[in-house]
Formats: sequence, structure tokens, C-alpha cells
Amino acid sequence: MNLLIKGGRVIDPSQGIDEIMDVLIADGVVLELGQGIATPEGTQAIDATGLLVTPGLIDMHVHLRDPGLEYKEDIATGSRAAAAGGFTSVACMPNTSPVIDNKAVASYVVNKAQSEALVNVFPIGSITKGSKGDSLAEMGDLKEAGCVAVSDDGKPVCNSELMRRALEYAKGIGITVISHSEDLALVGEGVMNEGFVATELGLKGIPWAAEDIAVAREVYLAEFASAPVHIAHISTAGSARIIRNAKARGVKVTCETAPHYFTLTDDAVRGYNTNAKMNPPLRGESDVAAMKAGLADGTIDAIATDHAPHHPDEKDVEFNVALNGIVGLETSLPLSLKLVEEGVLDLKGLVSVMSCNPAKILGIDRGTLRVGAVGDVTVIDPGKEWQVDAAKLESKSKNSPFLGWKMKGKAVYTVVKGQVVYQA
Ligand SMILES: [Zn+2]
Repeated sequence: MNLLIKGGRVIDPSQGIDEIMDVLIADGVVLELGQGIATPEGTQAIDATGLLVTPGLIDMHVHLRDPGLEYKEDIATGSRAAAAGGFTSVACMPNTSPVIDNKAVASYVVNKAQSEALVNVFPIGSITKGSKGDSLAEMGDLKEAGCVAVSDDGKPVCNSELMRRALEYAKGIGITVISHSEDLALVGEGVMNEGFVATELGLKGIPWAAEDIAVAREVYLAEFASAPVHIAHISTAGSARIIRNAKARGVKVTCETAPHYFTLTDDAVRGYNTNAKMNPPLRGESDVAAMKAGLADGTIDAIATDHAPHHPDEKDVEFNVALNGIVGLETSLPLSLKLVEEGVLDLKGLVSVMSCNPAKILGIDRGTLRVGAVGDVTVIDPGKEWQVDAAKLESKSKNSPFLGWKMKGKAVYTVVKGQVVYQA
């Protein structure tokens, strides 16, 4: 079955395209891009007049909770949430049970995704065995089994010497290292951002220095080892400044932030709202502004959701003991489109940070509508207004601080390898 997406505004930064065009996909790959393409027989046609047509969006940081924690999410439900959010590809973190630290677990994810997922699922293996921080996992095996990156996400690799070896070894075999940057001693028993709101609420704070110091270490290790490193979920003005400076002197560092870090401040925690509890924590106004400035000037390469589903039993509890994280796949696109409305990014910039750049960082053949590329496409109605309703979320978990929010902008068709996997 062929698919013709007609008359949409095609935004493809990989080719410098921003114009009204048709996109023809045949046998799962982009066959033709142009104006007035005739509909060949046996072709499904989508009228994309007034809509945006982009390379399929990529979320490079999600937790699918499968294997082992399927009561929160599984590969099938997580992929449905991704498709509904406009994502054609996700990269899933290894802090499952068991941890994705060997070929067998990585293969389980790859195989289950092949049979059950609506979208492409690229597993991320762990840096250290069991993500325990003691000894390196077999990165070669993980890569062979289909892992596109390694990360101990959820915790930092505390041992700097081990992290140095991880960066050197990963560079040798060509796999991306993703750092969860956090100084655990400074975090201590903190449960939210250290500052005025934490003091008022009587909650223990996590200082910005806990993130900045860890980001600085990764930058220096990457510089020292002449190896690339990607920093996950930056949230502080300091992280953005450190990475901006490092990039300026040629360090191969990239980074991502999440929609909640440029949308919310620690004010959202008031009322002891556990759906505003995540790690790193929501920060202050100046950090939100720094995330926007970092996206605007290219310091921040990607928007990733850190989609972290949790069961109500893990969130409807006292703030101190509630688990960290929120679901994000289905709200990322409208929150990010807001950046375009605010003039932080233009549409090309938005598609770069949500598709082209994540593909480059992970080294996957996605993020482009070039002729011959895989036919992954997102068709977006930028004006569509809707309200976030827990009952309508595809994710198994509903732990979002954006429940009830009025949103503008929605993926209306999500196309994976030429197949419509989601239609609004
Ligand atoms: Zn993390």
C-alpha cells in the first residue's frame, strides 16, 4: 500500500525545506517529494491542507517499563502513547527489571517491539552492569543486539574513572553515551528544587549545584577523552551555560531538556502535588528562561520527554515518598509548539530538536524526508485545540501535571514506514 500526503506544509530541516508539497511513500520509504504528485492507483491519500508535515518525531528518552514493571506501562501501551503524541520513534531507557545490560534483555525489547509496538522502539542499554556503577556492561553485545546508546539513567555513574573508560570504550565502538548528571551527595534527601517554595512547604531541597557539578564533570571527561557525551534532561541555567561554553571550545557535548523544564517552575509543587515531582526537579523562573534561551541558540539539541509512567499507588502518597517522574509522550508536542508561538524557535528549529537532532545523536537513519529515507512522517494540526483528559490518555499511567490543561496543536496522523498507525 502506498501513501500520498497531499498539500501540507512540509518542514524538513535536513533538506532545508519549508514549503507546500506532496509526499509519496511507497513500500515504506519516501519515493517522491514535490508539487502536484498524481495519486497512483491503490494509494491511500491524506489531505494535509493547512497541516504541517514533518519527518517523524523522535523521543530519545522514554521509560517503557517493560520488562518487569508492566503494571506502569508496557511496550504496546507506551508505543500507543507515542503514536498519539506524534512520535514515530522512541528510545527506551534500560532501568527495567531486569536492567537492559545484556544481549538477552535487549533482544527481548527488540523482539517484543517488532511484534507489538506501533512505532519504532530503539533500546538503550546500561553503561554499567545492572546500572550499579561498579563495572562496565558489555557495550559491544548491547550494540549488536540493537541498542542505540548506553545510559545508567535514573542514577549517575558516580565513579569518574569508570565514566572515563565508558566514554573511551563507547567512542571506540561508536555508541552514544547518555549521562544522567547528578551529584548524589548534594541531592541528599532532597525531594524538590532548593529554594523559597521548598522552604515554605517544609520540604528538603535539591540545589542546582547537584546538577551543574555533574554536568561539568561530564564535559571535562568528554574533553579529556575527545569523546562525545549526551547529557539527559538538563534543567538548570548553569547546565546550559556550561554546555554552551563547552560547545564553543569544541567539546563534543549534546544535551536535551524536557517540556516540563521550559513550561513549569517549582511553584507547581505547591499543594504537595506529586505529579510535579520529578528528577531533576522543576526549577525557578530563571532556569525556565535559560532552557528557552538554550533551545533558541542551539545549546540544547533536543526536546525529550523523560516519559516516566507510575501507578497511582506510587503517586497518591505523601510527597516525600512519591516516586519521581511524569508521563510526557502525549503532551510534548503542544507544549513544544508553544515555543514557536512565543518566538523561541521557528518551525524548522522545532522539527530539528524533535526529530533531526535526536536521530543524529542516536545515529539512527531517521529524522529526514529525503527520497529513499524510511517513510516515518508526522502530520500536525498546529491549531487544533484540545484538553488533556486522563481517561483519554493512551498511556497506562496518568501521572501528568498537565491534566485538565487546554492545549493547542496535535498530531493528526502518525505514519510509520508508510503505515498510518495513529489518526486523531
Ligand atoms: Zn535521568
